[in-house]
Amino acid sequence: MTPKTLIFGTGNRKKVEEMSELFATIGIILKSPADFPQQIEVIEDGDNFAENAAKKACEQAAFFGMPVMAEDSGLVVDALNGEPGVYSARFSGENATDASNNALLLEKLTGVPIEKRTAHYVCHITIAAPNRKILAETEGICCGRIRFEPDGNNGFGYDPLFEVVEYHQTFGRLAPIIKQIISHRSRAARWMLQILSGSLTLD
Ligand code: IMP
Repeated sequence: MTPKTLIFGTGNRKKVEEMSELFATIGIILKSPADFPQQIEVIEDGDNFAENAAKKACEQAAFFGMPVMAEDSGLVVDALNGEPGVYSARFSGENATDASNNALLLEKLTGVPIEKRTAHYVCHITIAAPNRKILAETEGICCGRIRFEPDGNNGFGYDPLFEVVEYHQTFGRLAPIIKQIISHRSRAARWMLQILSGSLTLD
């Protein structure tokens, strides 16, 4: 099997790590925009995950002249009417960090009892061609609830607060291999692997 390469248009090193192993199983090597001498910045101003993923994939595919896979993901908290949603990365402002986002999430959920702290992660993945045509789209979710205190240092973002339904442990505490199997990103990625192993060719 000759390896093919696909640009994964994200600046998030953790996301590349989470996806690279999966794509390697079907002989696809993921490259990051950082592997190229120039990159473009895409403004994520969509109203939902699908719009943002499409914009990132289409604009970068046109720029690099190669197919690009992009994803948009985030946390949807029921008690906050879906917040932070598409604003997950910058929930606590322009200079947000994982720590400041987690602190704001806990603050907004003050007084909310455990049974009302339900939440899910969403990941929408889109592959676009250089002519901006969308070649494939998949979406995955992962259900859980928001703990009262962080637990564990694995993963990134809201993982120390996000308790996974099936395991009663946070993604911060669970081994990375578990996240690679059941996360929103892994579920969306597995659908994409099926499409790439079947009808979709990248040449
Ligand atoms: P994006 O890079 O614009 O898609 O923003 C995604 C944001 O959603 C991240 O910065 C995190 O705050 C959050 N997020 C998405 N996926 C995960 C995950 O797997 N764990 C923790 N936080 C996540």
